[in-house]
Amino acid sequence: MSPRTLIGLIYLVAALLFIFGLKGLASPRTARRGMHLAEVGMVLAIAGTLLNHDVVRLEWILVGAVVGSLVGAGIAAWTPMTAMPQRTALSHAFGALAAALVGVAHYLEHRALLSTAELAALGFEVMFGSLTFTGSLVAFGKLQGLVPGRPVTFKGQNIFNVALFAAIVGLAVYVVVEPSLPTAFFVMVGLATLFGVMLVLPIGAADMPVVIALLNAYAGLAASATGFALGNDILIIAGALDGASGLILSIIMCKAMNRSITNVLFGAFGKAVVGGEKAAVERSYKSATPEDAAALLEHAARVIVVPGYGMAVSQAQHAVKKLVELLQRLGVDARFAIHPVAGRMPGHMNVLLAEAGVDYDQLFDMDHINDDFERTDVAIVIGANDVVNPAANRDPASPIYGMPILNADKAKSVMILKRSMSPGFAGIDNELFYAPNATMVFGDAAKTLEAIVQELKELAPVARAVA
Ligand code: NDP
Repeated sequence: MSPRTLIGLIYLVAALLFIFGLKGLASPRTARRGMHLAEVGMVLAIAGTLLNHDVVRLEWILVGAVVGSLVGAGIAAWTPMTAMPQRTALSHAFGALAAALVGVAHYLEHRALLSTAELAALGFEVMFGSLTFTGSLVAFGKLQGLVPGRPVTFKGQNIFNVALFAAIVGLAVYVVVEPSLPTAFFVMVGLATLFGVMLVLPIGAADMPVVIALLNAYAGLAASATGFALGNDILIIAGALDGASGLILSIIMCKAMNRSITNVLFGAFGKAVVGGEKAAVERSYKSATPEDAAALLEHAARVIVVPGYGMAVSQAQHAVKKLVELLQRLGVDARFAIHPVAGRMPGHMNVLLAEAGVDYDQLFDMDHINDDFERTDVAIVIGANDVVNPAANRDPASPIYGMPILNADKAKSVMILKRSMSPGFAGIDNELFYAPNATMVFGDAAKTLEAIVQELKELAPVARAVA
């Protein structure tokens, strides 16, 4: 077998593993296996590339692999769960930078020999690689609090951005037609890096997860273009998979928030805070202690837990698992209702609950559990706010109007665990908190849950006997 055929075969197996890996990621049950398949695929893709006779010196590749692995392992080991979105942003920045640098090196070395199609792919690669690099860094900075999280806007911003993008595309076309002028090429690279910053600055920190999914798509497209420029099949396939999945994810998230991509990119959502503390002063609501909450749960037959971003902040997933297990031992039908955009990244709640060892069988998607709230004695809302706000169904003036919500308000009693009456991500007051069937249990969610578990054990002798 010729080396070329062998490399082709290795790439084919790697591509299949990437596809099966992605398929596995579609469900929490198969996600771990999907991840492992994709990892094996990546090892094969790297091995296949190293067999290529174009590799002149392995030493530098080895140094890069060791440094990259150390950085990657360090970031993965030390990043807390709540910082996953910014970790993802950094990964995209690195991937996009790699694509851009490969493109620049390829241009400098081979520009006189490249065909028009190869030059076009190279221009696309460098353009998307550069803007994704800086865009992802700004996204990282916003999420990490290093750059102002609020939308940074100025008059004529959209016109400026459109003009900037037009100039970049114009220069890219010029480079394809006249590749011998490095000045035009490098001005294009410079403007693309500026465009990445300008693209992400006007977007609020809370919208960053959608933007990151979109930047993921851009990084994938840049990698795919690199594959075309270098004639590397696995890069074309892996980049296209990355680009398509990133785009699909952005669309799913926007749909779950009932917002368009354009609204996320140009709408500066979450800028104005409506209601919130002020409304809380004017309206009355009931509040209770963990002891009262335990007493209510002691008599419940059906309970649904609705986790939200506050569960992640408080790291309450272990305490909530304890409570649900205790309730189940008491014969209560206790389950979890998962909203697709609860938290700050796709699958946020699933990941946290899986980390605490909650069985997937107990997690129910919105569509599967929403009708059950009517037959539920207590809905326990843990650090969730927007995803249970009935204004989404009732108030056409609300910024979240039309966003599908979990019908926690339909339960006989709703218990809301949060620290104050302040609003959630959308910055709007929540009608649910003032409903006659709702009770606020103030405090950090993890501490409140621990206290409820303790009380419940004391209140229910059966529970104490089996715990
Ligand atoms: P929200 O952001 O609406 O509300 C979270 C609530 O948690 C707050 O009201 C806060 O209230 C409470 N909280 C914070 N810390 C604690 C704590 N330590 N203990 C108890 N409570 C706490 O969260 P949801 O999950 O309901 O909604 C997610 C929102 O994020 C949606 O609007 C969604 O569109 C948006 N979003 C989600 C994305 C995703 O991928 N999942 C991406 C982009 C946006 P208090 O301060 O009073 O404690």
